[in-house]
Order: sequence, then structure tokens, then C-alpha cells
Amino acid sequence: MDSEGRAPTSATARPANRNATILGRIRLTGIVRAITGLRIGGAAGGLAIGALDNPVVRDPLTNQPYVPGSSLKGKLRSLSERIEGLTTNWRINNVYIHVCAGDRQDGRNPTYDNCPVCPVFGVPGDQYPSAPTRLVVRDAFLTESSVRELEALRLDLPYSEIKWEAAIDRVTSAAVPRQVERVPAGAAFACEMVYTLYEPRDVDRFWTVARALALLEDDYLGSYGSRGSGKVRFENLTLSVRPRPHYDQPVAQLPQRTFDSVDALLAARDDVLAWLREAAGLAGQAG
Ligand SMILES: [Zn+2]
Repeated sequence: MDSEGRAPTSATARPANRNATILGRIRLTGIVRAITGLRIGGAAGGLAIGALDNPVVRDPLTNQPYVPGSSLKGKLRSLSERIEGLTTNWRINNVYIHVCAGDRQDGRNPTYDNCPVCPVFGVPGDQYPSAPTRLVVRDAFLTESSVRELEALRLDLPYSEIKWEAAIDRVTSAAVPRQVERVPAGAAFACEMVYTLYEPRDVDRFWTVARALALLEDDYLGSYGSRGSGKVRFENLTLSVRPRPHYDQPVAQLPQRTFDSVDALLAARDDVLAWLREAAGLAGQAG
């Protein structure tokens, strides 16, 4: 024990600054609508002749296509890294992402606090951030009305269409047809993100998420984006705030605000940040 009665820390103990207290949470819900056909790849159907080589990812229980939270979050992170011009230095499988790498020796991460990306989207578990990942992105499933609409269409496959594309042989100019499975344009997925506030300045960091939604609308989700697939739009965005006391004594009506579009949300930035701070009970606390 030291003079303050604390147990000595072992070599493997995490530094004290990893303690994190939940101050509140922001829940963001909305619709992700496919404006063009959407292809988020699942496992290939095997090498048998005639097997589809580009299937979409499906929920095994319902056979319905969905947008994995990891795909959505990964895209939001990558766009946030790119608008900030951050170096991508961390390899995950075949892609590189930006990570503010910590110092394993003294458990410090000097750049993390001011990084617009890492506190929001997280860093690998063996690094030393000062708090855990703020943003959780849930898997986004088709809305009930979208399920009914897609079932009413006579599609090539359950809830999806086959698009034929031609790959052009660069030497012979011969067109090589290939199949791509896509969720048809118009499909709507219900998305939910939960953002945890660990310190007052996390309210401001939330804007990284809002901005990433706008960046994604001008980019694409899934693959074949440069050839037209994957344009999405966010609709009916609702922000609701769960201040910390809510988890002990839930209130019936949480403070919430709805925005028709990402642009409407972005246009109200200062107003929204002030409201979030107030609703989370963090008004007047230093960022
Ligand atoms: Zn960083």
C-alpha cells in the first residue's frame, strides 16, 4: 500500500487514467436508404459454375440483406480520417487505418486526446487511450415496410437483384460479363448508433459522427461505388439524450430532436451541441 492506501500496481495493471465514468449517452436513430443499388459483400457462394461470386451479406435467420454495423462504422471512420488528412498507420487485415498509437512503456497516448477520430471510433485494445470507444454502430436491418415492398417485387433473389456488369479485358477489349448481387435502390434500413459521453468535451467530439454522415452521403457504402452502387441517404434522424441518472431512474420522455436530413442536422450545429450539453446535464462544465 502507498501513503494513500492504494494497492500497488503490478506491471500488467492498466494505468489509472483508463478509468472511465459514463456521464450520459446520445442515441442516434434513423433510416439509411439505398438511393442506388447497394452491395455489401458476404461470403462467396463457392466456386461451382453458376454460383454467384458477389453475394450480399444476409441475416441467416431471415435471409434478408442487412448492413453490418462494422461496415457502416468502418466507412464513417475512414471518411473522417480522410477529411482530417490523418496518416493511416495501422494494419487490420488488408486495410490500413489511422490509430494514435500509445506508448506501451508508460501507458501514455499524447496525441489521442486531441485526435478527432480515435476517441470517437476507438483504438485497438492493446493501445493506451484515455477512455474507451465512444461510438457503437449497430447492424442495420431492413425496415418492415421495406421488407414488404421487396417481397412484392419479383426479384431475382430474395430481397435482392442481380446486376450484370461487364469487365473489359484491357488487352483484347473483350467484355467479360459478371454478376453482382445488389439490394435494390429504395430499400430502407433502420440504423442505430449509441455514443457515450465520458467527459464534457465528448459532446463536441460527437460532431465527428454528424459530419461523417454527410461525408458518406457524398461517397458510397459497400462496394462498386465508383460504378454507381452504394449511394445512401440518411432520413428521419432522431437524437435522444440519456443523462446518467436515466439509468437508475428511467424517465418516460427523454429529450429528443428530429431532423429530416443530415444537412438539416449540420445546419443546426451550435444549437444542437448546446442542447446536447444541456440535456446531458453537462452545461457549464469545462470541455
Ligand atoms: Zn488518432
